[in-house]
Amino acid sequence: MVALAPYACHPEHSRGRRHAEAPPQRRNAYQRDRDRIVHCNAFRLLEYKTQVFINHEGDLFRTRLTHSIEVAQIARSLARNLGLHEDLIEAISLAHDLGHTPFGHAGQDALNACMRELAPDAGGFEHNLQSLRIVDELEERYAAFNGLNLCFETREGILKHCSRMHAHQLGEVGERFLHGWQPSLEAQIANLADEVAYNNHDIDDGLRSKLITIDQLREIAIFERHYQQVMQRHPKLTERKRLIAEIVRSMINAFVIDLSHTTQANLQSHAPQSVDELRQLPPMAAFSTEMRADADELKKFLLHNLYRHPQVLRMTVKAQRIVRELFQAFLDEPRLLTAEHRREDELEQARAIADYIAGMTDRYAIREHDQLFKM
Ligand code: MG
Repeated sequence: MVALAPYACHPEHSRGRRHAEAPPQRRNAYQRDRDRIVHCNAFRLLEYKTQVFINHEGDLFRTRLTHSIEVAQIARSLARNLGLHEDLIEAISLAHDLGHTPFGHAGQDALNACMRELAPDAGGFEHNLQSLRIVDELEERYAAFNGLNLCFETREGILKHCSRMHAHQLGEVGERFLHGWQPSLEAQIANLADEVAYNNHDIDDGLRSKLITIDQLREIAIFERHYQQVMQRHPKLTERKRLIAEIVRSMINAFVIDLSHTTQANLQSHAPQSVDELRQLPPMAAFSTEMRADADELKKFLLHNLYRHPQVLRMTVKAQRIVRELFQAFLDEPRLLTAEHRREDELEQARAIADYIAGMTDRYAIREHDQLFKM
């Protein structure tokens, strides 16, 4: 590992864990966090959870698991470039989507609507908050505590956004949302690495699915630029899959280099001497203005042409119905649940059902729904 910058997080100066534990031997505290994440149940379930395309639509599409690994790869490259802690950024990246429901955002929206209808003041359901809930409370692997008992810095990185109401309830990880402080630079970079990963792999998956075309994408400035560059480098390249892979890798590279340069320049002009100093500054991790505009144009394209494509929406509608009907069935008849998911209190029962459904993989939810609704 290269030398850590003064504004990097340092495991020996960590704000620590919620439950006191002896420090690990021969690995640092952030490595231990990363290892705990990789070994937990929620991490393995990511393999069968939708990114954009439902798991059974094709074996080459990204899942939440491969997405998380791509985020970790991009984030680690950037961490090494900027003198940040690679183990911490890897831990944050691998854990950032643990709280995702089956069927991607469609599942989350349905579960959120169910919770809000039932208990308008209970804060609904939000996948990012759920990621923190999993590592803080829901994993059951250790004799002495619930959850994974991760370091403050990992937990702070997982919690990307949060309402004021939740911030008040979350103790020290909620604090920064009340004061307008920033998280560590590792957290800021992991967040943008997420964006680089999904924008680019959704283009790749979108083209693979044939729901969007190269000609359509060539209307987008950044895609057209990299298309031209690839054609210049390889004028005889006609094979579609290699052409797409070359353009996508060229774009990822450009995003990473821009992010690294711009962040470095921000750091130079503010010169923070510690993580605490960096937390009080505006966000240091950023794309250049031009790159931000390119990324936004790409996002908008994907929203209109891929995420809202009739064929994707068809699946979205089905997925939402499955989640809604499961939630209602369990709520109406808690005896359908095994004892571990049953609660006396009505609101606690609803939350336990939300936890249970959120933990389901796509195929598990479909199977459960079939069993409950098909004779
Ligand atoms: Mg993500």
